[in-house]
Amino acid sequence: MHKPLVFFVDIDNALLDIDRIKTEIKQSLIKVLGHGEANHFWKEHEEFRSKNNLVDFPKIIEKYCKEKHTDTCAIKLKNIFFIIDFKMAMYPAAAAALKHLKSFGKVAIFTEGDMVYQKRKVEQLGLNKLVDKIYLYLHKSDHIDVIFAKWKGYTKVFVDDRSPKLIKMKKQYPETRIVEVCQGHYSNKDHVSHKKIDMTIESIEELLKMTAADFY
Ligand SMILES: [Mg+2]
Repeated sequence: MHKPLVFFVDIDNALLDIDRIKTEIKQSLIKVLGHGEANHFWKEHEEFRSKNNLVDFPKIIEKYCKEKHTDTCAIKLKNIFFIIDFKMAMYPAAAAALKHLKSFGKVAIFTEGDMVYQKRKVEQLGLNKLVDKIYLYLHKSDHIDVIFAKWKGYTKVFVDDRSPKLIKMKKQYPETRIVEVCQGHYSNKDHVSHKKIDMTIESIEELLKMTAADFY
């Protein structure tokens, strides 16, 4: 008798085309700040990201605007992020894939990043209605033990675009099943055929063809 399944699905580059969102942000930054300052802002973003291993636009806006010493800076920049339409960047089969997984298991969202935009993504994409549980963390690798303690007795399947993170998780918990979804900019960098990955899919749509048996 198999244990029941629970899926932990990432958002960025798994359900949401975050590269498309980034292109929009970059274009809006150029409109608001001009090319030179937009590059400056983006450079700060990249520095912050590599230093903290985290995408946190509210923090970067605060830091950048402090240096600029203008009252309107934060308002203008926050507005760029406030009007982002995450829904239009959801991969077409994402909602159907989640519903499909739910037909034979429990489904949770397991994502990381700053709380402001993560919450907004969840809201706009209507994920509360599509899954059983939402886990939003700054760094998800810090909370793996909590997840495993909560879902004892389940076969846990992680769906993510970042193979290094998946492999690290499987090393810690070898019974975990890991599915790499090769969408977005990391797929060129990280995506090499890993013997350690249980399943590699080219798009989230491929989950629609799968049954529970594929995950054991
Ligand atoms: Mg991701």
